[in-house]
Amino acid sequence: MTNELLSEWLQSSNSTVILTGAGMSTESGVPDFRSTSGWWKNIDPRTVATTEALAQNYSLFHEFYKMRIENLEKVAPHEGHQILADWEKRGIVSLVATQNVDGFHQLAGSQRVEELHGSIRSIRCHRCEKAAPIESFLHKESCVHCGGKLRPNVVLFGENLPQVSWNNAMEAIRAAELVLVIGTSLEVYPVNQLPMMTKGKTAYINLDIAHHAVQFDLTIEGKVKEVLQQLPL
Ligand SMILES: [Zn+2]
Repeated sequence: MTNELLSEWLQSSNSTVILTGAGMSTESGVPDFRSTSGWWKNIDPRTVATTEALAQNYSLFHEFYKMRIENLEKVAPHEGHQILADWEKRGIVSLVATQNVDGFHQLAGSQRVEELHGSIRSIRCHRCEKAAPIESFLHKESCVHCGGKLRPNVVLFGENLPQVSWNNAMEAIRAAELVLVIGTSLEVYPVNQLPMMTKGKTAYINLDIAHHAVQFDLTIEGKVKEVLQQLPL
């Protein structure tokens, strides 16, 4: 019943924004680095993905991101990513805003994507901000321009969100007729404020909807890929 209703909304909406989170990527085999504390060396990733670790414990910081970048070679977008890319081609979706840094939406074919937490697939110098090859980072080299530390273009705890992406997502969500939130526990501020900025309808697909059901006009509990596959669109 809710499946049919969401399909109707998606078909009738003139501007739909999708907001995705970790649940989208965990179904590809990417570890959710918020909820599974201790999955890596019994260290809470939230203490490593920080500006403090970058400055004071670079070896650990580097090892953590090297492992995450190398992990990406073993995983790939799943059919759920492809369904969203297909929706964009068919004019059903205007924009995908994502908290994920793995680039899977683009790999699956989505072209209008705002990466709210940056991308782990590109590297820059933390000091002079010049781009560097990913291999230089993996080999733990310093910046060839200034000798600074290399880092992925992700938003670390303690850093601001990329302003352009954030503004683009916010404006699209404000103007949207439908905002569909997929696979995020909505724990991370300020991204968790985005869905409520719209005057349009709101829908939520997640493995666990318990904490947020009342905030949305429509909710579907389940695995992201399965729910998207079962939508009659
Ligand atoms: Zn530099």
